[in-house]
Amino acid sequence: MSLFDSQADAAFRQEVRRFCADNVPAELRARVRSGLRPTPAQFREWQSILYRQGWGAPSWPTQYGGTGWSPVQLHIFEQESAAADAPPQYHQGLELIGPILFTYGTPEQKEHYLPRILSGEHWWCQGYSEPQAGSDLAALRTRAERQGAHYRVNGQKLWTSYAHESDMMFCLVRTSDEARRQNGISLLLVDMRSPGITVRPFATLDEQTHVTEVFLDDVMVPVTQLVGDEGKGWSYGKVLLDRERALTATLGVRLRRQLEYVRAQAARGGDGAPPLLESTHFRSRLAQLEVEVTAIEYMGLRALADNVSGVDAGPRGSMLKIRWSELLQRVNLLWVDATGYEAARFRSADPAQQEVDEASYGPMSAYLHSRVTTIYGGANEVQRNIIARRALDL
Ligand SMILES: Cc1cc2nc3c(=O)[nH]c(=O)nc-3n(C[C@H](O)[C@H](O)[C@H](O)COP(=O)(O)OP(=O)(O)OC[C@H]3O[C@@H](n4cnc5c(N)ncnc54)[C@H](O)[C@@H]3O)c2cc1C
Repeated sequence: MSLFDSQADAAFRQEVRRFCADNVPAELRARVRSGLRPTPAQFREWQSILYRQGWGAPSWPTQYGGTGWSPVQLHIFEQESAAADAPPQYHQGLELIGPILFTYGTPEQKEHYLPRILSGEHWWCQGYSEPQAGSDLAALRTRAERQGAHYRVNGQKLWTSYAHESDMMFCLVRTSDEARRQNGISLLLVDMRSPGITVRPFATLDEQTHVTEVFLDDVMVPVTQLVGDEGKGWSYGKVLLDRERALTATLGVRLRRQLEYVRAQAARGGDGAPPLLESTHFRSRLAQLEVEVTAIEYMGLRALADNVSGVDAGPRGSMLKIRWSELLQRVNLLWVDATGYEAARFRSADPAQQEVDEASYGPMSAYLHSRVTTIYGGANEVQRNIIARRALDL
């Protein structure tokens, strides 16, 4: 894989750049630049804009409506959309359950769900974690009992991102008790409008409400909603987590853009004080991060190339996840520092003030939200265990 744009890649870059210049909604750009996460409605809007362009699924094969882009094109797309302050696409439908469905789903599941993921019509949530099953996911207790043409599902999921906004949940459930706990786990596609589902959102430190508890009480799920074979859900789940980690790789590109926001912020003086960018100490923190972000971008490119060419990347996804999450937290901390005391302002309780506040509380919200990145998608301590086992044979 060449690191330089070929003539065709350069033309592609221009095409993406033009498209982004013309199509990223101004409000969305402003939101991304402020540091606040886009709302679900904004994520959906961006997905439908990309879909209309035929770019709904950059990493999927063309056979399922994807672009079939090469790793270099994927990277260019990420670079250009980040430079245009477009958000990353929301990943749970597109990058987690979508690839599972086109790999293991029935023809009916593919036909029904894949186009709806592509168009943004369906928003999916991931129902894996439970109160006693996070890192030790195989301890999950949500149970699905086969009753004729249905499974009767009972249990509770925890930390389910955006369940209150979701049409569908891909859900790991226990279908039997086996000596090896992983063998009794299946993957079900659950319609979030099913009777018996209660979703309770709760607020997190970043003052957003994106995580929820999901209670399932006698929820009847048709057997046709089982993905692959009963009792094999664990192995499909592992594919998802591996993909989730590998995808984290492309986010290195976004770190670079965020550093540009930090630089721009630090170039502003305030209250008669000289710009922070004139401070040697600050510039050296910024330069250090720029070097480390460059390194992770190249790590990401390598993982992407392996992913597409089917090479076993070993624990590279885990390595990237650790580096990316730690860097993200440091970049956001620098952004908060560059914003100064203004960053300490939290969202006003007065709705009329909220819009005004957004610009100043964005970096703090981004920083507080970034705390989660060392926990979700497999906590970093667990990633270190994976590296120890798979790379160091410990
Ligand atoms: C904001 C947010 C959004 C999330 N979104 C989703 C979602 O959409 N869907 C979903 O299914 N889940 C989601 N999660 C859950 C997330 O995947 C879990 O929080 C994560 O797997 C950790 O599990 P836990 O919280 O139960 O912590 P625990 O597993 O109890 O871990 C607690 C601490 O112990 C450490 N630890 C645990 N086991 C080991 C070990 N073997 N070796 C070394 N250290 C260990 C962990 O690293 C951590 O520091 C989300 C979590 C958060 C915070």
